[in-house]
Amino acid sequence: MANKDVTDHARMEKIVSLCKRKGFIFQSAELYGGLNGCWDYGPLGAELKRNLKEYWWRKNVQERDDILGLDGSILTHQAVLSASGHVGGFSDPMVDCKVCKKRYRADQIEEAPVCEKKQQLPKGEDKTCELTEPREFNLMFQTSIGASVDDKDPNAIAYLRPETAQSIFVQYKNVIDSNRVKLPFGIAQIGKSFRNEINPRNFTFRSREFEQMEVEYFCRAEDGLRLTDEWLETRLKFYEEIGIAREKLHVLDVADGERAFYSMKTYDIEYEFPFGVQELEGVAYRTDYDLSVHQKHSGRPLEYFDDETKEKFIPHVVEPSAGCDRTVLALICEAYDEEDLTKEDGKPDSRVVMRFDAKMAPIKAAVLPLLKNKPELVAKAKEVKCLLQPHMNVFYDEAAAIGRRYRRQDEVGTPYCIAIDFETLGEEGEDLKDTVTVRERDSMEQVRIPISELLGWLLQRVR
Ligand code: ATP
Repeated sequence: MANKDVTDHARMEKIVSLCKRKGFIFQSAELYGGLNGCWDYGPLGAELKRNLKEYWWRKNVQERDDILGLDGSILTHQAVLSASGHVGGFSDPMVDCKVCKKRYRADQIEEAPVCEKKQQLPKGEDKTCELTEPREFNLMFQTSIGASVDDKDPNAIAYLRPETAQSIFVQYKNVIDSNRVKLPFGIAQIGKSFRNEINPRNFTFRSREFEQMEVEYFCRAEDGLRLTDEWLETRLKFYEEIGIAREKLHVLDVADGERAFYSMKTYDIEYEFPFGVQELEGVAYRTDYDLSVHQKHSGRPLEYFDDETKEKFIPHVVEPSAGCDRTVLALICEAYDEEDLTKEDGKPDSRVVMRFDAKMAPIKAAVLPLLKNKPELVAKAKEVKCLLQPHMNVFYDEAAAIGRRYRRQDEVGTPYCIAIDFETLGEEGEDLKDTVTVRERDSMEQVRIPISELLGWLLQRVR
């Protein structure tokens, strides 16, 4: 078991700096001082995130016969969140420092922090915050609907959803009525959620606006616990498939009393981030709680009718709920590597390399003409780029020496670099004409491949 307190701040700082420098992640509204807890994904981050979401969708919807997709609205009717218990109870305990007025989440501070106003006090004097008793702070963002609303009209109040799950529960009946489904079956959704976190922190890990990737898997009560264990295994396998080492993942069997009151079993899947071991995903057996409360509050029947046994009942549900942004951050942390090398002349060298799994890599292949002042090389390289472009994200680069261009691609995790050289043009003999050099990022080994086979060769490796 990993020591949960082991952290590597220096590594995290380098990762955050690379994310900005290379265009993975930027602070939202940085130009105006930044919007705390919100992040924008730059060109490479946007590609990485899309690759993750597309792979999750493929594995959890397209390749499964028993799961259907949904894309619910973010603005949520207050009745939905009153019924689910969020309006009354979706809160964290908050404490304030009476001196510097800073706020903290009470369950996340082990000892009183240093007070910003008392920092200058002479040695020996108490410099810690003077904290109030904890009080509950509701994490939902409230808004009002319509132009001519009365502030006090309860029908005008809406919320930005704090989880994607509730829209699945409230559309569950429409999904089963419009599709022929049989238990067990799931409804999957990827989408934004919002929580007014008291202390957003650890880069994108705890944000106020984030994306979730959730499945609500409906089943019979007697299958709930077994399916929870099965989902845990399925989800662990998914993380391995996207390139997160199994030994960096930890499973926490959440103890009685620490789970949500309606959950009979919850596993947290945690990852060894440089700032400590922290939750990536929760796999929770939520029983029939959600559908039951929505049936009760809406007054509309939400039972499932079994054609074979003629039974009518509220299904139970198992929920694997993953954070998209947290998984992107885990992919970045997992990929980051500083490698020591030896140059051809024996001198030491080093490179920063993002070892993304090729499926996740933002750029799949870089096309590099050996020289930019040879029109035939450039024309051939552009031809190769156009051949690949409809099928994958390709980058074309002709600036600087080829070695430097390789390093630039290593730093953003491009798995394959394709060099167009004089052999490609047939200047070194007919045998090598219309072949290219493909350099693999991790091993730095090079192979020669005919252009006619290049697309198929790459597609086998980057999907
Ligand atoms: P935490 O204990 O870290 O606040 P949670 O247990 O409240 O998380 P859930 O409500 O189970 O989280 O949400 C499911 C998933 O959504 C989490 O495992 C996480 O990946 C993601 N998530 C939740 N809150 C945030 C957040 N503030 N920022 C980014 N991702 C989040």
